Amino acid sequence: MLEVEKLDVSYGGIQAVRGLSLHVRKGEVVSLIGSNGAGKTTTLNAICGVIPSRGSIRYNGKEINGLPTHKIVKEGIVMVPEGRRVFPKLTVANNLLMGAYSRKISKSILQQETDFVYHLFPRLAERKNQLAGTMSGGEQQMLAIGRALMADPKLLILDEPSMGLAPIVVKDIFKTIREIKERGMTILLVEQNASMALSVADRCYVLENGEIRFNDTADNLRKQDIVKKAYLGA
Ligand code: ATP
Repeated sequence: MLEVEKLDVSYGGIQAVRGLSLHVRKGEVVSLIGSNGAGKTTTLNAICGVIPSRGSIRYNGKEINGLPTHKIVKEGIVMVPEGRRVFPKLTVANNLLMGAYSRKISKSILQQETDFVYHLFPRLAERKNQLAGTMSGGEQQMLAIGRALMADPKLLILDEPSMGLAPIVVKDIFKTIREIKERGMTILLVEQNASMALSVADRCYVLENGEIRFNDTADNLRKQDIVKKAYLGA
């Protein structure tokens, strides 16, 4: 579904991503792990057209590098950015509506999809009239994922969904990510929490200093000593 080849991204004179290649097949959950500053967010931003990059990014066989972000979203690639970025002055319900803003769908489909998000995240249903800015970090993360689902993604990209959240909330969020996966969604997930990322992913890429250091199935990576030591706190 997604094929990235020899991606290079620089900020001024500093190269943040170097010759990075990765692919995501339909129905897979692929995660990208690595420490602070490894280039994870930069990679996602390049895929989504938020920052310019060199190299090839093909989506369903079509080159998308160079397309503006709104066209990439229309193609079905939807990102939940790091730090959530919900609309703080809008209610939960209106944040979800904003997710579907550019789609031409009937009221009944809109209602069905909203109900599906409320089914995934009952907490959002309880709080549909609450202003998003007054929600807890975990609730805002749920809302950000729900809003992205309202855009009808074919490839859902999640940037650090666990960031700044208590372990119990992280568990909850990952349980829902698993449920979204089981319904057939293709997911590219960036995480610093490697054990959570490996628990949900089919395959995983380990990024260090802007380059892919290893890639393998999540099961194999979990067994590798170097991954255990560097990323799983063993
Ligand atoms: P983190 O988990 O801390 O967000 P990351 O793996 O997502 O890390 P990036 O945010 O992609 O890493 O950063 C990769 C490198 O690019 C870092 O050295 C960072 O300082 C640099 N960088 C990121 N954004 C910019 C920017 N807008 N201008 C200049 N340098 C940047």
